[in-house]
Amino acid sequence: MAKSKFEYVRNFEVQDTCLGNCWVVVRVDGRNFHRFQMGVTDPIQENKSSLRFAEQHNFTKPNDVRALQLMNRCAQNVMEELDAICLAFGQSDEYSFVFHKKSNWYKRRASKFMTHVVSQFASSYVFYWKEYFPDVPILYPPGFDGRVVLYPSEQNLKDYLNWRQADCHINNLYNTTFWSLVHKGGLTPVQAQIRLKGTLAAEKNEILFSDFNINYNNEPLLYRKGSVLIWQKVNEVSKKRIKLPNEADEKEVEVSRWRNEIVELHCDIIGDQFWEEHPSILSD
Ligand code: ATP
Ligand code: ATP
Ligand code: MG
Ligand code: MG
Ligand code: MG
Ligand code: MG
Repeated sequence: MAKSKFEYVRNFEVQDTCLGNCWVVVRVDGRNFHRFQMGVTDPIQENKSSLRFAEQHNFTKPNDVRALQLMNRCAQNVMEELDAICLAFGQSDEYSFVFHKKSNWYKRRASKFMTHVVSQFASSYVFYWKEYFPDVPILYPPGFDGRVVLYPSEQNLKDYLNWRQADCHINNLYNTTFWSLVHKGGLTPVQAQIRLKGTLAAEKNEILFSDFNINYNNEPLLYRKGSVLIWQKVNEVSKKRIKLPNEADEKEVEVSRWRNEIVELHCDIIGDQFWEEHPSILSD
């Protein structure tokens, strides 16, 4: 086909191929999902109140289980629809997707990786919303940002995931203690913030235990560890009616086949155990 004289503008597009043999991580994060945790007296937060997605949609504090499950549902859809995602990790309003280092999807173009993940995730969020929030109408279309980061070694990739899970733990311990002080301890958000300023993890554990009889280790794993999605082979057995050549009637037989299925886990991924139990996640 003859090219138009305008065709040259294609040359303005830049190459954004992800370096070969690196793990490609795409992280999405909800835009303006925060709700105030620093109290009502913060004027900047106050002015932005019209932008607070979590608050406007009545997310329970510190963890809205419906919102977390919705995030997991969206991530599952992303994994099903896009190629070569071997693991996804989610917490709060963020999700990380790991594309296998050998993936040649869209010739490894970073913009393709990022935009397909973000748009698939965001449209899923709206599409599945009513399954998780049947009584809460979604007030406006939410947005997500996205970034691509390459990790050249398996250890770098594992450390990236460790970093996100450690972030989940640190935030959740803080938020659980903060909201216990507010909801059960009768403190204002500002008083709770002051009470927690500079405290170490052990002190927060101690506040939870001695003031509120909460053993942090008994809090749900979903909150403490986030969510991991991986592929697992499952043997599916189904019954089928078939007619054998030498027999007059149809007969019911069992047929089994291997199928790849996404499983959702809430477990520690920082230690070696997770990787030892699932050696195939990162294998070629
Ligand atoms: P940005 O646009 O920069 O990402 P943000 O307001 O989304 O800003 P984040 O740092 O991403 O800020 O924090 C997300 C916030 O959303 C959390 O701090 C929390 O207040 C709220 N949030 C997200 N998920 C949940 C949930 N499942 N339950 C309760 N609150 C949640
Ligand atoms: P890719 O995923 O690579 O973008 P694609 O199938 O979306 O693949 P495009 O080059 O984007 O391919 O072409 C979009 C196609 O969608 C058009 O060729 C046309 O067939 C169809 N299409 C898009 N919008 C309309 C429309 N309004 N009415 C009818 N057909 C449409
Ligand atoms: Mg942020
Ligand atoms: Mg956010
Ligand atoms: Mg976030
Ligand atoms: Mg198209």
